[in-house]
Amino acid sequence: MLHCADCGAPHLETLARWRCDCGGPLSLPLGPGLTRAAVCAGEPSFWRYAAALPVRPDARGVYFGEGMTPLVPRRWGGRRVDFKLDFLFPSGSFKDRGAAVLINALAQRGVEQVHADSSGNAGAAIATYAGAAGIGCTVYVPAGNSVGKRVQIAACGARVVEVEGPREASFRAAARAADEGSVYASHNWNPLFAEGLKTVAFELWEQYGFQAPDVILAPAGYGGIVLALDRAFQELLRAGAVDRLPRVYGCQSANCAPLHRAALAGDPARAALDLSETLPTVAEGIASTRPVRAREVLEGLARGGGRVVAVAEERIVEAWALLARQGLYVEPTSAVAPAAALELLESGEVPRDARVAILLTGSGLKATERVAAFSRPAERPPLATPA
Ligand SMILES: [Zn+2]
Repeated sequence: MLHCADCGAPHLETLARWRCDCGGPLSLPLGPGLTRAAVCAGEPSFWRYAAALPVRPDARGVYFGEGMTPLVPRRWGGRRVDFKLDFLFPSGSFKDRGAAVLINALAQRGVEQVHADSSGNAGAAIATYAGAAGIGCTVYVPAGNSVGKRVQIAACGARVVEVEGPREASFRAAARAADEGSVYASHNWNPLFAEGLKTVAFELWEQYGFQAPDVILAPAGYGGIVLALDRAFQELLRAGAVDRLPRVYGCQSANCAPLHRAALAGDPARAALDLSETLPTVAEGIASTRPVRAREVLEGLARGGGRVVAVAEERIVEAWALLARQGLYVEPTSAVAPAAALELLESGEVPRDARVAILLTGSGLKATERVAAFSRPAERPPLATPA
């Protein structure tokens, strides 16, 4: 049984229903969580945590041996942190965690046609898994969006439909398609996607010796990772597998920070910006003006004592360059969390002896056009307009 995250109304799980009558997003109840004994240690992928996922692994259709991404210690801000290399996935971003669980779940229900709206990594992840599963896929993308991601989506066999207008126009096109028989495989609306994202938390738990780290930093556009971290660690806490929740920071670009504004105002309804209230940002993957689950994101962050952090553009670019010189070649969006970590360490908000995990979410190979501009500073970098 699903429930509406906004009004609490219960809903039966059906393929056609993707939101509440009130317009709110649907959520699953918390799952059973994991104990150390429930981890299938012989399985080398994140499917070792299948006991905590809503997909039967025996009937899994698409499998890449995905997950179990490295957690590597590095010096950062004069102290040790651990970078989680979550860009090491088939499509080049952590979004494959969600796509793997969502598409396999839909395949098990006999779904033959899905669609999504995305300007980037989520579309590539859905297209990758749908293509490999033999499921027809359409992705609605804003017209004029970056070429690389469009090419990747099409190469996987998905139909790419360019939609004129702001990012919201692509969403409206996807919402209409949901009324025409195709299943809306949305990374923001379908709660099965968040179930897949939980696996990053389970991996951290195991990699820290079956304990929670003290602090986790992740980029936040819609806040999908933040929500998944909150759900997964709540489940682990209930199962007695951890004794406290980690403090999670959701990191935004100050040039487009609706969650940050809502947090300052103490009102989730303020997490909606007009384009005139934003500036262009290199962090295109999180340049979202209207995150649909703002209430859940803010509550989830507060539960472990974390919050939303907004980082200035120049700090993001600095952090990106520092990472690249350490061999951590990520897309600019992924540099927002490391940039926030530098500020939180400098200010002392994150204690120097804390165990700090920083999620690196997307490959630099996704953003060649932007990266080329950084490498030739005489040229003006192509900034993404928030959508
Ligand atoms: Zn509702």
